[in-house]
Amino acid sequence: MSKYLDELHNDGKAIGFVPTMGALHQGHLSLLAQSQQQTDVSVCSIFVNPTQFNDPKDLEKYPRPIESDIKKLEQAGCDILFNPGVNEMYASNEQWHLDLGELEHLLEGKFRPGHYQGVTQVVFKLFDIVKPDLAFFGQKDFQQVLVIQKMIDLLHLEVKLVMCPILRENDGLAMSSRNIHLSAEDRQHALVLSRTLSWLRQNFDDGQIASLTEQCKNMIKAEPSVQLEYFEIANGENLHKANNDTKQIVALVAAKVGNTRLIDNMIIRS
Ligand code: AMP
Repeated sequence: MSKYLDELHNDGKAIGFVPTMGALHQGHLSLLAQSQQQTDVSVCSIFVNPTQFNDPKDLEKYPRPIESDIKKLEQAGCDILFNPGVNEMYASNEQWHLDLGELEHLLEGKFRPGHYQGVTQVVFKLFDIVKPDLAFFGQKDFQQVLVIQKMIDLLHLEVKLVMCPILRENDGLAMSSRNIHLSAEDRQHALVLSRTLSWLRQNFDDGQIASLTEQCKNMIKAEPSVQLEYFEIANGENLHKANNDTKQIVALVAAKVGNTRLIDNMIIRS
């Protein structure tokens, strides 16, 4: 893979990269479409990365429909799929630690200990193999975008990160590979997440952040089979709690719906 891509680089081609864990949906394909628009050669990776799962059951039940993923990538005109095995990516007992500062302890970091160490570990390896000019990540994982940008800055990596908007189902549910685990009933309950975020965007007032946060939490907690983990109105640059001076504001939520953990967010002020 490295050698092949080196040759393309030497021919002056710009390489675009879309890392995924597969079970592809339109959200993933929208990242690929961005890459195809902005670069000459688009590489997509599918790798369910064990080191970023803090719950072994979650790793075990993560969907892996590789045949249909390959078809989707072919239909979408993806140039290269990189689908390595775990043994190709990791030696045994590999150590990795990158000082991500507060990002590791806030929100997702707090609820998924070790998750971002696993994410940076695998994305670093993937960047090293693919050496992309541009890498495309979804706003769906907003905190992940901040984490990857921090890694790029800390390690002086020569890749430009492009954040792409969240694709939603018609009823507002953010597309996610995990949605297939939702029962029909839970899928309806899950709509409270996007509904609350949209309500907040329409009713936002930067003098009322604390009470709006409480109202949003209560809306979500009132929904049956939804267990709220966090709801925060935050500064989009560092994920600190927002106040009325904050320029870039994003609202972020995580909740378990039935047994499925979902995340969503909305940019409230950019
Ligand atoms: P995953 O396979 O869940 O690791 O996601 C791979 C990439 O697709 C990440 O950069 C995600 O942020 C992005 N992604 C996931 N869901 C969506 C969505 N609904 N809209 C846009 N991008 C998404």
